[in-house]
Amino acid sequence: MADGILIIISGPSGVGKGTVCRYLLKLKAALKLSVSTTTRPPRPGEKEGKEYNFTTTSHFKELIDDDSFLEWAVVHDHYYGTRREAVKTLLARGKDLILEIDIQGADQVRKKVHDAVYIFLAPPSMSILEQRITGRGTEDPSRIESRLETARREMEAYHLYDYIVVNDTVEDAAGLISSIIDAERCKVSRGARPPGQGGENN
Ligand code: 5GP
Repeated sequence: MADGILIIISGPSGVGKGTVCRYLLKLKAALKLSVSTTTRPPRPGEKEGKEYNFTTTSHFKELIDDDSFLEWAVVHDHYYGTRREAVKTLLARGKDLILEIDIQGADQVRKKVHDAVYIFLAPPSMSILEQRITGRGTEDPSRIESRLETARREMEAYHLYDYIVVNDTVEDAAGLISSIIDAERCKVSRGARPPGQGGENN
């Protein structure tokens, strides 16, 4: 069985990565979304083990010391990281896996995983991005300016990615990402073969 495909979805703060990823999971039932570990406190409605594994800073630092993370970063004063073991297990089982992570995390994965697919989710315009960050309502107003500044800087990283998908509507953006994954599955370099050459229905 071929290994699963690791798909990295990054983009500026406020672009709607979470919403697009959740919609994508509805389109592709076999796709998995990695659950990150974070020191950020849960927002109302968020559940342990579903959106994140919530933990303390001291435990997170122990995990760093144990080399448990494929990548980790500090985003808006909180630690976020992807546990290496879960990623390895799912890919080895042939599952396609999404990491919804920030740009610093994507930079680390790029150095370690060469056949991952890197997708940059972009807003339809900078003014729409600013409206989304300002209007989300989950943030302390003093944090909004820092989120805006980070988002402007993050937009400049697009050229490091394989694909750019504009999040105009959630349905279209998720549909495009789904097509990208389908196309990646058809690549000969990823092990796709015709019948009689090791492919299906031989
Ligand atoms: P939020 O707190 O709004 O859920 O996420 C804040 C930012 O952290 C988002 O840009 C999100 O993509 C990023 N993030 C979430 N999980 C991880 C992770 O495991 N690693 C990294 N590097 N960034 C993450």
